[in-house]
Amino acid sequence: MTNLAIPAPPVPTVPVEGGASFPVRRIFCVGRNYAAHIREMGGEPEKTPPIFFTKPADAVVPPGGAVPYPQGTSNFHHEIELVVALKGGGTDIPEDKALDLVFGYAVGVDLTRRDLQAVAAKAGQPWDSSKAFDASAPISAIKPGSAVPTGTISLTVNGEHRQKADLADMIWNVPGIIAEASKLWKLEPGDLIFTGTPEGVGPMVRGDVVEGEVAGVGKVSFTVG
Ligand code: MN
Repeated sequence: MTNLAIPAPPVPTVPVEGGASFPVRRIFCVGRNYAAHIREMGGEPEKTPPIFFTKPADAVVPPGGAVPYPQGTSNFHHEIELVVALKGGGTDIPEDKALDLVFGYAVGVDLTRRDLQAVAAKAGQPWDSSKAFDASAPISAIKPGSAVPTGTISLTVNGEHRQKADLADMIWNVPGIIAEASKLWKLEPGDLIFTGTPEGVGPMVRGDVVEGEVAGVGKVSFTVG
């Protein structure tokens, strides 16, 4: 590239198990994808098309990175999620081809300014200020492989269990999420998809040590700074 008016920003990356780096293009997130979480948020589960929102690519916090307590909130929540990393793309991907797009899986935390989300939801306003803020997507290394993980997804704060569920509890599964997203966007290599959180979301304060795990995929951990 030539004649850039300002220096090009760096490409956000996430480490891959084995040593490579995965360049992040976009971050898609699914809301309301576990029935018990919908109920704890005051809703009633039903199989509607998935709710998508996004975070900027540079919201990722690779392992070991800092997660500061964000400005503008006094109710900062964790949401443990399985993350899908794409190596392929396209539009209108059929479910039975969706896993061909998958590079691998990671464990992520969809950090949320819950107080701002509640205000936005009540007013019918967008979620961006509650979801798409700086350092709002801490993530583990990516484990390569397209087979959909099965088993437990869980999160602790200071060693105390907060979230624990089974990936089978997801309302929309991984192929279904990819197929539905590709009806709305042309998916591209480098896209990450956070697949929704189970019940047990809750607040964090400065100094909290947060550890999340998806069986067979990996672990994510950070301290709230
Ligand atoms: Mn979420």
